[in-house]
Amino acid sequence: AIGKTKTTDKADRATAERAIDHKTRMILYKMLNKGAFRDISGCISTGKEANVYHATQSQGQPLAVKIYKTSVLEFKDRARFMQGDFRFKNGYCKHTKTMVEIWAKKERGNLMRLKAAGIRCPTPYLLRLNVLVMEFIGKYGCAAPRLKDAALSLDKLREGYVEIIIAMRTLYQKCKLVHGDLSEYNILYYEGHLYIIDVSQAVEHEHPHALDFLREDCVHVSDFFKKHGVAVMTIRELFDFIVDATIADDAVDSYLEEMQRKILARGDVSVEDEIADSVFVQSFIPKTLDDVENAEEDVQRITSWKDTKDLYYLTITGLKHALSLTQSSQQKTLLQKSSAT
Ligand code: ADP
Ligand code: MG
Repeated sequence: AIGKTKTTDKADRATAERAIDHKTRMILYKMLNKGAFRDISGCISTGKEANVYHATQSQGQPLAVKIYKTSVLEFKDRARFMQGDFRFKNGYCKHTKTMVEIWAKKERGNLMRLKAAGIRCPTPYLLRLNVLVMEFIGKYGCAAPRLKDAALSLDKLREGYVEIIIAMRTLYQKCKLVHGDLSEYNILYYEGHLYIIDVSQAVEHEHPHALDFLREDCVHVSDFFKKHGVAVMTIRELFDFIVDATIADDAVDSYLEEMQRKILARGDVSVEDEIADSVFVQSFIPKTLDDVENAEEDVQRITSWKDTKDLYYLTITGLKHALSLTQSSQQKTLLQKSSAT
């Protein structure tokens, strides 16, 4: 009976080859019938975990419809993102369907958080179980390319680099999230700007592995821009820029200008920096001083003004800030002394 109406024909065509299960198809029928879109056609992408389709609203505007696949095997490697995420304490380890729904819901929630913080990303419109309808990034019939395929000029790449690292910082500081799969594959280039997509696996920055994921994101983003000739920060510098809560919003630009001067002045990254970076990439990142082995020894070194360049955790643990405070109070005392004499 279902195959007889006009709308179901359309939905059938769109879903025919992709083997969308019955339940998902019913959701699409309902959306069509309720006028969420008048047409769903054209598969933009088929991925491991989801397919993305192009749809058209009744007034003709394009939409993107992301459909999460309901098979359980595909979601196995996702467990690590769920662990410790307080939002999913009761959601994980149930039957497949629920898990897929959780991912779709998580994607919507995270997109909303990004939007609220002013980060460029698709606006989520409608969620029904494993189907997420969202803003289409691109011109009608032509999806925006992934950063990987955008073939940007060096100037545009330089702008893009700054734009994305500021977005990563905002994501961390304002949304309290770490993307967890950020790379040239999950960034779209549209009308001169970069859009972050695919945020279903993003984790709270309280997640036990959030900082490891963040560091991976830094490596992927850095590698892409570096490979295309942009003078980038070291991974450690980028990581610190993102997690440093002491940089005020209105000081971000000057911080980056200063950083730019530093990068230009040092020319190619020295072997020493390269090594420091690869050490950092493999290191355990402590979040507080309680997690630091031999913290007392390090603190000794710091307070006796020994070289602390290799202490990579100063920013994240807040030590750097604490240090700058003691430093300035020391300077103040010195000043007071000198003005007194
Ligand atoms: P996956 O989990 O399969 O990687 P993504 O969310 O990354 O899912 O989407 C896959 C692809 O679909 C993207 O690389 C992009 O090309 C396209 N895409 C996803 N969302 C949109 C959107 N809102 N507008 C335009 N294209 C999109
Ligand atoms: Mg993706």
